[in-house]
Amino acid sequence: MLLKDKTVIITGASRGIGRAAAVECARQGANIIIGYSGSESSRPAVEDLINEIESLGRGAVGVGAPAEDPDTGDKLVEAAVSHFDGVDVFVNNAGICPFHSFLDMPRETYLKTVDTNLNGAFFAVQAAANQMKRQGRGGAIIAVSSISALVGGGMQTHYTPTKAGLLSLMQSCAIALGPYGIRCNALLPGTIETDINKDDLADTDKREYMASRTPLGRLGRPEDLAGPIVFLASDMAQYVTGASLLVDGGMYVNLQ
Ligand code: NAP
Repeated sequence: MLLKDKTVIITGASRGIGRAAAVECARQGANIIIGYSGSESSRPAVEDLINEIESLGRGAVGVGAPAEDPDTGDKLVEAAVSHFDGVDVFVNNAGICPFHSFLDMPRETYLKTVDTNLNGAFFAVQAAANQMKRQGRGGAIIAVSSISALVGGGMQTHYTPTKAGLLSLMQSCAIALGPYGIRCNALLPGTIETDINKDDLADTDKREYMASRTPLGRLGRPEDLAGPIVFLASDMAQYVTGASLLVDGGMYVNLQ
């Protein structure tokens, strides 16, 4: 019960890493605000997650609002205040990675990626931090960045700068929000099998190559990120701020 009676907002929690984190946070005693895009097609997945969290004896509410909208953070915070007891943990996880080559990158693809992954995150983190400051009991903010914050990808020239930006945002926010007892950290997943890379990893050779580059011998699963997110959210990490945690099976350090 590392998060007993805490309220945790997780963006992009309808699927993948965010969903796994939501379930583990609930297992650890938290009530959850489930952020998602607002698309009708995502609603059944959100209902399914709400049921799973309620079966664990915790509360959950879905808030469908696009991550790229600067008002979305306020909506998530309002839901946490009206349904539960404010905001203790904010996990900025929603993100997209529409793989595309650089030289012919459509402007819309670049702008949509930056708006969704980084610009929206800035305003959402700001909204969560202001609520935590008002409450006066500190808090934890976690940005789901990526190993791509540290290394490049030829088909990800629009994506990797957003992930480096999130890492940098957490470092600066750690300084800005430390005086309020609000800790800010970045989580850097390696290659985790989810919908975001389903098409890319459908290429068997690529998939086997990525697994072979991972010292632990397999690609990641969404559940592999849940424990590290709970750790950074909990008082176990009470003196951890401005840090980044790679969760990549060792891929980053595997040069040769
Ligand atoms: P995923 O399975 O594709 O899930 C993406 C989540 O983000 C969904 O809940 C989706 O909601 C939500 N989302 C997408 N666009 C949104 C928008 N415009 N507004 C609000 N919500 C939106 O992806 P994932 O792999 O779990 O990725 C989660 C995070 O981890 C991302 O930030 C990603 O960059 C990062 N990451 C992933 C990997 C990896 O290998 N998988 C590696 C490093 C970092 P809907 O269901 O409503 O669409």
